[in-house]
Amino acid sequence: MSVVELEHVTVTYHTPSGETRAVEDLSLRIEDGEFVSIVGPSGCGKSTLLSVIAGLVRPDRGEVRVGGLPVRGPNPAVGYMLQQDHLFDWRTVLDNCLLGLEVQGRRTPSAVARVRRLLRDFGLGEFAHRFPAQLSGGMRQRAALVRTLAMDPKVLLLDEPFSALDYQTRLQLEDEVSQILRPQGRTVVLVTHDIAEAVSMADRVIVLTHRPARVKREYVIDLHPRRSPVQVRESPDFSRYFRDIWRDLDVHI
Ligand code: ADP
Repeated sequence: MSVVELEHVTVTYHTPSGETRAVEDLSLRIEDGEFVSIVGPSGCGKSTLLSVIAGLVRPDRGEVRVGGLPVRGPNPAVGYMLQQDHLFDWRTVLDNCLLGLEVQGRRTPSAVARVRRLLRDFGLGEFAHRFPAQLSGGMRQRAALVRTLAMDPKVLLLDEPFSALDYQTRLQLEDEVSQILRPQGRTVVLVTHDIAEAVSMADRVIVLTHRPARVKREYVIDLHPRRSPVQVRESPDFSRYFRDIWRDLDVHI
């Protein structure tokens, strides 16, 4: 079943200095439990696409559905995590992660226990009562991820979540995220400019055109069942996908 459906979606930003068409006549479907990466040239409309799925940006044309229902605004079934972690410095890690539940009046003992479990899964069990300033960049991103997962979204949107991290931390986090999210069967849409990350994590990579974004090509990644992103990178087929997508992006060395 398709959990995310976009049909002929067009998005235009209107600003005092003019109009920018970010997405044009874009259609795509994402299946329940699928992990999809979206890559495309810088400024092509990738973040806009996530904002449309999250209900934060309204298309001027086309239809967007999540779980079969038209998207009319932000929806608790969709969790959105950005590159910047937006953690509140004055709240502990645990309290940051519980914020969304608190706002919705759902900070119950069982919800707190579930969030503590998530913190442990991401290696933050001992840091629950620390403040964000006491954490490394990788730990802060883990905390931000736990905060998003705390709401138990059906669809998780990740916008360049690892790009500010050093290479080793990024690989480590890719592996953790994959190990934790895959067994949960959660639907994930990852926007990244990193082709290796896109291929090593996803079941399918969608390559977008230059702005305005349209689907240029799709790759079903047949490398996983079920190796970790670091292991996938060692496979010879991985380089083939990498080369093909590199070419699609019109990147010249
Ligand atoms: P990407 O994520 O691929 O880098 P974006 O979706 O952020 O691309 O942006 C696509 C285009 O839309 C860019 O030209 C960007 O400048 C423009 N844009 C994005 N957000 C806004 C906004 N809030 N107002 C006006 N223009 C915007």
